[in-house]
Amino acid sequence: MKLLVISFGCQMSTADGAEMARPLRARGFESASGLGDADAVILNTCTVRQHAEDRALSQIGRLKPWKEERPGRLLIVAGCAAERIGAWIEERFPYVDLVVGAKSIEAYPAILDQALKRSFDWARDDAPAWPAAAQEQAGAGAYVTVMRGCNYACTYCIVPAVRGPELYRPFDTVLAEAGAALSAGARELTLLGQTVNSWRDGSGRDFSDLVRAVDALPGVARQRFMSPHPFFLTPKLMRAMADCATVAPHLHLPAQSGSDRMLKAMKRNYTSMSYLAKTETLRTMVPGLALSTDFIVGFPGETEEDFRATLEFASAGDFCTAYCFKYSAREGTAAASAPDPVDETVKDERLARLLELVEANMRRRLDAMVGTRVRVLLEDATDGRTQFHFRARLDEPGVPGTLVDAVVTGRTDTALKARALSLASRPVAVVSLSS
Ligand code: SAH
Ligand code: SF4
Repeated sequence: MKLLVISFGCQMSTADGAEMARPLRARGFESASGLGDADAVILNTCTVRQHAEDRALSQIGRLKPWKEERPGRLLIVAGCAAERIGAWIEERFPYVDLVVGAKSIEAYPAILDQALKRSFDWARDDAPAWPAAAQEQAGAGAYVTVMRGCNYACTYCIVPAVRGPELYRPFDTVLAEAGAALSAGARELTLLGQTVNSWRDGSGRDFSDLVRAVDALPGVARQRFMSPHPFFLTPKLMRAMADCATVAPHLHLPAQSGSDRMLKAMKRNYTSMSYLAKTETLRTMVPGLALSTDFIVGFPGETEEDFRATLEFASAGDFCTAYCFKYSAREGTAAASAPDPVDETVKDERLARLLELVEANMRRRLDAMVGTRVRVLLEDATDGRTQFHFRARLDEPGVPGTLVDAVVTGRTDTALKARALSLASRPVAVVSLSS
């Protein structure tokens, strides 16, 4: 039996997809190479922007012939869009076997068991024990979910509605899962949560304690975390980032706007000045820190002056990259009924101007790295990620999953080219079977 997991959206969605695959793997499902040989598909949907939801929905439509070809195949639609419009999905796509919303992920093994029993004869035997932690072979990097949900109320955002309030996974559970991923071969761990750095537990530990504990795990070469909220970038967390050698000198810290008027309307809980002050402090503590961010353009009421403030902020922030989105109204959010929507053509034009600035800055930062030393964690023979977030391609193949010291020799539009320095990265023996 073979399984294909298709995930749309953020890293949380990818991590949820992997987690939802575990009970099926425990039942003996192996990874499918594509739709053709898949007996089951888990489609994890996203709804954060209308465009993301539309893409996921059209993927469900494209799976109709796959399901009709062999009706015994299992099609599971999960995630944030499944939470928002699950009943509509069931009605519109009747060939879907199981719709599970993002809030039900904890109950998912039991729900899945029912669906398996309906679809497959062999599943009617005794249920297996559901494994709690990653057991499959991990790649070079692994995600570890530390919290789910969000207690914030950013006025544009549908996440709190579809994922519910914050739920922190216990300290020991997180560390056990991190340890299992390392034992399975991962070298880099990314701690995940909607506002990952708001994690805490009942005994007074906060996210900085978790970062320090992960740093102390045997076998961890590098750690990152996604998505931190600027409000919880505390002096204590900055200290932990500076102290722990495994914490990558890269932070993705969503800003959304450089206009204080817009940040207030978005209910973001910080100002452009306080954001920049915190990140400047962090730069002094973490040498070479690379900072990336998210921006939303065309939020209701955004004027040309507000947008210029975002452009100025983007220059001042010196971001290595930024994900820039056009505001998308989400049903039920406060901003969806706000006055003064921005014209679509104005949004397009602002997005293009912001992207131009962001991409120019990225190229400048890539250029500045030429001649410097980086450490590449190889995801395959030649491609990987440096500690500063940029992707890099090596001039000769190494062993996937190893860290390779390299010197940057040039760049493409978005990535670095590098010459490998450490011999340990080279395969021990290369046998050519071709004549
Ligand atoms: N929890 C994270 C963000 C999660 S959503 C945080 O607080 O920063 C990921 C990104 O999607 C956001 O940073 C934002 O830039 C974008 N986004 C969320 N809702 C959006 C909307 N309605 N329209 C456009 N972009 C949106
Ligand atoms: Fe959405 Fe704001 Fe929560 Fe991030 S902090 S998930 S943007 S509501």
